[in-house]
Amino acid sequence: MPIFYPFYAPYTIVVLPAIILALYAQFKVQATFQQYLRVRAQNGMTGADVARMLLRSQGLEGVRVEPIPGRLTDHYDPRDRTIRLSQQVFHGNSLAAIGVAAHETGHALQHATDYVPLSVRSSLVPVANIGSQLGLPMALLGYIFQSGFMLQLGIMLFSLAVLFQLVTLPVEFNASSRALGLLEGQGVLARDEINGAKAVLSAAALTYVAATLSAILQLLRLLLMAGLGRRRN
Ligand SMILES: [Zn+2]
Repeated sequence: MPIFYPFYAPYTIVVLPAIILALYAQFKVQATFQQYLRVRAQNGMTGADVARMLLRSQGLEGVRVEPIPGRLTDHYDPRDRTIRLSQQVFHGNSLAAIGVAAHETGHALQHATDYVPLSVRSSLVPVANIGSQLGLPMALLGYIFQSGFMLQLGIMLFSLAVLFQLVTLPVEFNASSRALGLLEGQGVLARDEINGAKAVLSAAALTYVAATLSAILQLLRLLLMAGLGRRRN
């Protein structure tokens, strides 16, 4: 029963704290986003307005701002220099919408200023995808079939996914701190409104911390399993 296998595998308890933190972070980001989605900003600007205004203030008129379907699907795509904002953010004039729009502008600014962690992260995307999809199953299969080679190759692939998660952290924290600096510096939000935007961005950052912790503990678990496999042989 390979599908259930991860739960039979030893050291599952190692990843338990990360699972709990990830569930909490997920709950927290939804709740905080919903809360500040109901608080309208005094300036009446939408997320799209704010992103365009902040881009202009930084001389980044070349970056496009487009709507995208879905919820919390907001992102900046460095390949075509486009900020894509979900409907609630693009058309919304809440503190949540403005906070997220400013965060994505922060990524565009990182790109324009050649912020090193962002370029490292971008170059890791292809290997990290392979690592996260193949690494774990390969390592677990290696453990089941007692193949040290498969287990080690799986661990090596999975390490790339862990590295990617680690590099994501400074990129995300930096985009949020740029966002809050821009919102305050350009006078988009009043001081008490900044705190609302900050709460939304902090909750979002927690999901990245949870994902990173979960990847690190998963790697630790695989390493412990590799040690166990060696003792067994
Ligand atoms: Zn981001």
